[in-house]
Amino acid sequence: MKKYSIGIDLGGTKILTAIIDKENGEIISSVKKKTKKDKGAEKIIQKIINSIQEVLEESKTSISEIENIGIGVAGQTDRKKGIIINAPNIDFNNINIKDILEKEFKIPVFLGNDVEIATIGEMYFGAGKDEKDYICIFVGTGIGSGIVQDGKIRYGSTGTAGEIGHIIVDVGGRSCGCGGCGCLEAYASRLAIEKRIIGALRKGRKSDIQNYIIDDKPIKTSMIRKALEKNDELITQIINEASEYLASGIASAVNFYNPSLIIIGGGLMNAIDYFYTKTIETAKIKSLPTPANNIRFKKAELGDFSGVIGAALLADYRKK
Ligand SMILES: [Zn+2]
Repeated sequence: MKKYSIGIDLGGTKILTAIIDKENGEIISSVKKKTKKDKGAEKIIQKIINSIQEVLEESKTSISEIENIGIGVAGQTDRKKGIIINAPNIDFNNINIKDILEKEFKIPVFLGNDVEIATIGEMYFGAGKDEKDYICIFVGTGIGSGIVQDGKIRYGSTGTAGEIGHIIVDVGGRSCGCGGCGCLEAYASRLAIEKRIIGALRKGRKSDIQNYIIDDKPIKTSMIRKALEKNDELITQIINEASEYLASGIASAVNFYNPSLIIIGGGLMNAIDYFYTKTIETAKIKSLPTPANNIRFKKAELGDFSGVIGAALLADYRKK
């Protein structure tokens, strides 16, 4: 068995690629590429290939030293065949990424989804280390979760278990990207929070965040954090509201699944302690007393790298 594998986190707006030392989770080299402006799968596939070549060159590693490549994508996958069935953010439909990359690099390629690889990363080298039963919740553009039962991810009968972002927290409420209404994701994801901020500003609400936003550039996590630190009324209200919904979704998971631990990750959670603390305190209050008294919460520990680390360990995890 070789020491290194390559992990790729193919998200909606970026590709993060890294060579990982599988013995300790160390990142040997990594490269991040944006995909936002790319139309069509071909360009993105080329960027993936380039990014693999770059991490090899940067660390002066030969492909013969790499055990395999693991890739996780935000979308529906056929794990066995290595097909990305549908990844709407990057316009991938029925693409056999396993075949393409195996032809190019002549080493085995494994495919999973983004939440799965992030959960595996936390399982091996993050907050899930030495734990057996827990849920990893990732609050990002969307909201997803990985359910770990007795040290193994629970995939469900169609491989879609853990879709906590589509727990319905408001019957007949806001429309969600899935086609439904009132899903948690439409209230507490990063995208939902940004929409609320932009909508309120358009309606003429005043906020400190206006001092940081440049034209139509996206709202950064650091801007939200700065506004919160200044006790900005609008941003505090929006974060409180998102936190209330998120806590409701988490409490439902606590009551329904009774895990011993919930790990929460994602950029906003990582960077904004207020959001994390408020959410877990409210989730405990909203949960039934017996599971609430026993539940522990932890922040995810690997930040943006949980996905690439988990992707590099995807094959090892599946052999477990
Ligand atoms: Zn939904």
